[in-house]
Amino acid sequence: MAAPVTRIDAIRYARHDRKAAANFAGAVDDHDLDMPLDYFIWAIHRAEGPPVIVDTGFGEDAAAARGRTMIRPVVEGLRDAGIDHLLIEDVILTHMHYDHASSLGAFPNAKFHVQDAEVAGCTSRAMCDHETRAPFDGEPIAQLMRKLFADRVVFHDGDSEFAPGIVLRLAAGHTAGLMVVCCETERGTVVLASDAAHLYANITRKLSFPIFVDQPGYVRAQQRALELAGGSLDHFIPGHDPLVLACFPSEKDIARVDLPPHTPIAEKV
Ligand SMILES: [Zn+2]
Ligand SMILES: [Zn+2]
Repeated sequence: MAAPVTRIDAIRYARHDRKAAANFAGAVDDHDLDMPLDYFIWAIHRAEGPPVIVDTGFGEDAAAARGRTMIRPVVEGLRDAGIDHLLIEDVILTHMHYDHASSLGAFPNAKFHVQDAEVAGCTSRAMCDHETRAPFDGEPIAQLMRKLFADRVVFHDGDSEFAPGIVLRLAAGHTAGLMVVCCETERGTVVLASDAAHLYANITRKLSFPIFVDQPGYVRAQQRALELAGGSLDHFIPGHDPLVLACFPSEKDIARVDLPPHTPIAEKV
């Protein structure tokens, strides 16, 4: 029987030049090494129906405010993947950080899927703490509230079967309700891990990315996400690693992560 998920695009829309020291909680010998982050949204294609979009990215305003480099607007990235944003019916928000949940307005006909714990967290007194709040922007959260009152938000409480071949798994730690998305493809389960690991090196070096609400939870969630990927880095797609475009078949800054990488991740990380 054919796999339910027929294609997964990792669409890069922005980047950020930084040093290795910014990517690890803890000292690293190569702290001064260039180690940029890429910013992605993902599109899950099935035999029938429009693709399911995972995360919505950010726009020019947030890029300017935070010194990130836009490569193209998210809607243009989708167009480059042959996707019309107006036809999208379902958007999974892995978490509410600004780089994953801005520009909800680009999907006027979609329902937005979020974890109970994520919405509770990003609307709680935890946001009075400036350090915890830093990766969130108020406007996307306000947009989500408006979507809620327009009956366009679907809440998930922990693990849930989203559709045949697509399962949401709670992986809290980076935020209160981060979820990863497990997709059944021709080559097995591919885990869109979002910020359960920004980089493959967060896993291989056993060093957390330095943003979390619960570090032991972050470590457990990362471990769980890797197990869901069968322990294979090639089946684990991190949230921000330039190795995704470098190792998977790609064109126009879009990597086909449903296909096997042409260079095993373990050889590059
Ligand atoms: Zn995040
Ligand atoms: Zn992120």
